[in-house]
Amino acid sequence: MRFSLAILCMLAVLFSTLLPDSLAQSSGKCAVCGKTIGPGMKFLKSSDGRIFCSQSCYEKTLPKCCICNKPLAGGYLKGADGRLYCSEKCISTTWPTCSACGAKSQKGAIISAEKGDLFFCEKCLSKPKCFCCGLPANCSKLYDGRHICPSCSKDAVGSLDEAVKLIGEVRALMADKLKLKTEHKIEYELVDQKTLDEISPQNQQGIELGLFRYIEETETTTVTRGYKTSKTVNVTRNYNIYMLSHMSRRKFIEVAAHELGHDWMQEYYPGITDLKIKEGWAQYVAWRVNEIHGQKGLNRMIEENKDPVYGDGFRMVRKASEKSSPPMEALHSYFRDKNN
Ligand SMILES: [Zn+2]
Ligand SMILES: [Zn+2]
Ligand SMILES: [Zn+2]
Ligand SMILES: [Zn+2]
Ligand SMILES: [Zn+2]
Repeated sequence: MRFSLAILCMLAVLFSTLLPDSLAQSSGKCAVCGKTIGPGMKFLKSSDGRIFCSQSCYEKTLPKCCICNKPLAGGYLKGADGRLYCSEKCISTTWPTCSACGAKSQKGAIISAEKGDLFFCEKCLSKPKCFCCGLPANCSKLYDGRHICPSCSKDAVGSLDEAVKLIGEVRALMADKLKLKTEHKIEYELVDQKTLDEISPQNQQGIELGLFRYIEETETTTVTRGYKTSKTVNVTRNYNIYMLSHMSRRKFIEVAAHELGHDWMQEYYPGITDLKIKEGWAQYVAWRVNEIHGQKGLNRMIEENKDPVYGDGFRMVRKASEKSSPPMEALHSYFRDKNN
C-alpha cells in the first residue's frame, strides 16, 4: 500500500508600513476623494508618496481580505492560492478539514483510502496506522505488534474456523459466478505478520496480506531385486494459502480472492513466470470478486494503485480481458501466449 503526500503550504508576507505625517510646507489633494489638504491639516502619506485626507480614504486603496473583506492595512497572509487574508482565522477557513478529528488544518497529508482521498492533520498523522486500511487512527495493538483501527476491528477475522468458512464462500462464488475453479485440496492457515514475512518470498515481504504457496515434492524410490532395479516416482502437490489474521471482513474477501487467483493460475498456466502477469491476474480476480460484493472503494484502490507490478499488472490484465465478452475467452488466449 502506498500513500500520496501533499503538504500544504502558506506564505506570510508583511505589508509595507504606513506612517502618519504632518504637512510641512506645501498643500496637496487626497489621492482618493480629491479633498484639498491645507497647511496644518493632518494627513497620511504612503510609501509611494501619495497623500490621503483620512484613514478611510487610505483604506479604500488597500487590497481586501478575500474572506471578510477587511482592508489589509497591517500585515496580511498569502494563501497557496495567491489570495490575501487578514488573519489566521480567515485563512484557516480555506484549510482542509481533517477527516479524523474534524479540525481545519494548514499542514497535513492526503492518504488514498477506501472512501476516497482523505486529508489528515499533522496531529492525527502522528497516530499509529492501521495495518488493514492504512489509515492513522486511535488504534489498538494486536499481539504481534500490528495496529488495528476501531473500524477494521469491528468485523476482523480472528479465528481459523471463520477464515476457512469465508475463503470457502469466496471460492464457491468464484466457481459459480466467474467460472474460476480448481479441485485442489488447499490447506488454509491464519498467521501473524512475523510468520507471513518468514514464508513470503523476499521481494514480496510486507506487500501482501496473504500468501499462496505451491510446493511439489518428488520422491523417487529405487528398489533392487537381484538383477532388476525398479524406480517409482511419487509426486505430492501441496497447496497452501496463508492469510494474515485480523483483516476486516471485506479486506479478507479481497485478499482471499487474490490468493485463490494465484491457485487458479498455478493449475491452468503454471508456466507463466512474469510477476506482473501473476500479480496482475490475482488483483483482477480480487477486483471481480469485490465488484460482486459491491466493494467499490476497495476496487478504486486496486484501479489507482501506482505499483509497477500490482497496479500496472492489474491494468494490463484488465485491458486484455476487455477484448472479449465474456472476458475469460480473451484472457485464456492471452495467458496461453505467455505460458512457457
Ligand atoms: Zn480623502
Ligand atoms: Zn479576513
Ligand atoms: Zn486531525
Ligand atoms: Zn483500519
Ligand atoms: Zn499475489
